[in-house]
Amino acid sequence: MSRQGKMQKLPHYQYLVADHHLQYHYSYTCIKSNIAVPTGLQNADPCTARGCKWKRNRNGLVYVPYVIANQYSPDEIQVIKRGLQSFTEVSCIRFVPHEGQRHFLHIQSDSGCYSYLGRQGGGQVVSLQRPGCVHHYIVQHELLHALGFHHEQNRSDRDKHIKILFENIIPQQEHNFMKRKTNNLATPYDYNSVMHYSRYAFSRNNEPTMVPIPDSNAVIGEARNMSPNDILRINRLYCDIALKK
Ligand SMILES: [Zn+2]
Repeated sequence: MSRQGKMQKLPHYQYLVADHHLQYHYSYTCIKSNIAVPTGLQNADPCTARGCKWKRNRNGLVYVPYVIANQYSPDEIQVIKRGLQSFTEVSCIRFVPHEGQRHFLHIQSDSGCYSYLGRQGGGQVVSLQRPGCVHHYIVQHELLHALGFHHEQNRSDRDKHIKILFENIIPQQEHNFMKRKTNNLATPYDYNSVMHYSRYAFSRNNEPTMVPIPDSNAVIGEARNMSPNDILRINRLYCDIALKK
């Protein structure tokens, strides 16, 4: 089943987030072009107000069923399960084995690291291509997309924190640097978010595509684990009743 075919069936609000950049860390190149489809969603987790948020159970927990495809080695499955489990320790999110629930994540090794943004309805693919995408921080990154979170550098307030150098970006990849009307959940912009791209993401010339402001030497996009702000956002969107309106 090609993703192109799958994409054509997507309702207008759906959005596929393809993380080519993550593979560059591993010189891993099995990448198709034109796999991101910005088809109308102009913000990140505000889609959660339109139905892409996973539902809270009466006990206050948010169960997100998953299936792991039969494509991975035991070690890879351990990495994936450790990523799933890492949400349990810090939030109300509970990734649980799929047992017939209507909505679930289908974790599989497709082409590249990618996820849909928020709950799409039915089974939805989270692609962790082996071997390039099966790393703890990438598992967390793609799961955060599936929970409705977008990249940090697409935040509505990003221009106060990073300068985008469009002249260095690979043509046709500028859409990865579009600013979006995100609901930032009163959390600060975070260079250390696991959702932040690296300084050279999608560079066409080995020059930076993003530079931090005002300290151009600040480290960006090198997180190997969810940051405290990543965790805070999960809790504010899904777990903290007091902040829900
Ligand atoms: Zn991503």
